[in-house]
Amino acid sequence: MPKFVLIGSGLAGGLLAAFLGRRGYEVDLYERRADPREGNIVGGRSINLAISTRGIHALEQIGIAEEALQHAIPMRGRMIHDRSGELHFSPYDVDPKKCINSIGRGALNTTVIDAAQRYPNVRVHFNHKCTEVHLESASAQLETAEGIITARGDAVIGVDGAFSAVRKSMQSEIANFRYDESHLAHGYKELTIPPGLNASWRMEKNALHIWPRKSFMMIALPNPDGSFTCTLFWEFEGPRSFATTKTEDDVRRFFEEEFPDAVSLMPSLLDDFRNNPTGSLVTIRCAPWFYRGKACLVGDAAHAVVPFYGQGMNAAFEDCVVLDECFEEFPKNRERGFAEYFRRRKQNADALADLAIENFIEMRDKTASKIFRAKKKLDHALEAALPGIYLPLYTMVTFTRMPYAKAAKRARIQDALVYAGLFVIAATLVAAMLWLIAT
Ligand SMILES: Cc1cc2nc3c(=O)[nH]c(=O)nc-3n(C[C@H](O)[C@H](O)[C@H](O)COP(=O)(O)OP(=O)(O)OC[C@H]3O[C@@H](n4cnc5c(N)ncnc54)[C@H](O)[C@@H]3O)c2cc1C
Repeated sequence: MPKFVLIGSGLAGGLLAAFLGRRGYEVDLYERRADPREGNIVGGRSINLAISTRGIHALEQIGIAEEALQHAIPMRGRMIHDRSGELHFSPYDVDPKKCINSIGRGALNTTVIDAAQRYPNVRVHFNHKCTEVHLESASAQLETAEGIITARGDAVIGVDGAFSAVRKSMQSEIANFRYDESHLAHGYKELTIPPGLNASWRMEKNALHIWPRKSFMMIALPNPDGSFTCTLFWEFEGPRSFATTKTEDDVRRFFEEEFPDAVSLMPSLLDDFRNNPTGSLVTIRCAPWFYRGKACLVGDAAHAVVPFYGQGMNAAFEDCVVLDECFEEFPKNRERGFAEYFRRRKQNADALADLAIENFIEMRDKTASKIFRAKKKLDHALEAALPGIYLPLYTMVTFTRMPYAKAAKRARIQDALVYAGLFVIAATLVAAMLWLIAT
């Protein structure tokens, strides 16, 4: 049985180790952090995330979807908060049973690591930081409390996130390795709405809350303890931005002007704002994602995307499913398996990167507009009238496993047809009115 060295036991690392373990492969999974099950919070990242069809399907393959989802909170649509505090609910789909689920990052991480460790051929090593990978020998250098060690296998897989050490080694060792990293002008900061009395939720529990403010926005996802985790996405620089909001008065004034209905629910706003880090938002595209049969990238290490479609982790989990399928198809030829995985996933990861950036504009700006809400209603009406034929883009991305690139292409064609249809209807109406006036 081949031996795999996996770097990074985040969301995708744990799940991939479970997939490989199920195949009977030898797996050593190395993580730079301490064991999250010993109460180590995953620092600096979103506390909760939205998991949908693709991610759930991947968990089902390993038989842990129910276990993972037991504490998740279904979110049936977007709850838009305007400046006056007025609320508008927009369901995600015409079928009210279709929802995305708010799930704790820590709980999900623990579930996938537990699943991997059920296979005796999977070993997980915490507090091991990879500093370098040698591709030809499929070996990784790891910093530990006892000093530097070398882990060798038949292949090294980098599941070590957006700032992957494995990818860096591929960049320096593979001639013509293509790499592109682009940062948004916006950063993000997490804030909290604590639970109400008896752990109750102080806003609608089964919704993803959005405060769209054109060039910036705040969102909030519910947690099982009755709290909400809010994330403010805001410009780093500019007249009103993270850079210019320095004093407590600045922070208070900004929130009272922009999110008046939320401020009263956020007693720790000033402390959260001061103490929580301001994260950056990066899109990473690279190629190739593999080196012969010896190294490969999975998840954010291969394709970090901005979080606005709620698909980064879902896509990382889908990578694990596709890589597993490729190992099934090419059991004796790992290089072919890696190459096929790359071929199937690359264009879809690129399409998702574009969709995620477009959805930022939709969430922060368009969701506030009446035209946008009318278009969503039209989408749902068409979906109900033409079941299986007309599928809104959000539905294809979130509630199906249609490849991202195919979903994006199909949505462009649908939109062109809808706008052409609306144009014909409008032109016919105008012609009819002119005819009536003339006769
Ligand atoms: C604010 C925010 C909100 C998000 N919301 C959503 C959402 O709602 N839905 C969704 O699907 N996605 C969301 N995402 C994206 C999601 O978090 C990522 O796509 C997902 O975590 C990728 O999983 P991964 O395992 O590839 O990487 P990670 O989860 O980043 O895991 C990488 C692991 O590798 C370890 N590591 C890193 N370097 C080394 C090293 N040198 N040696 C050893 N170990 C190392 C890290 O400690 C970590 O444990 C969000 C992201 C952000 C920033």
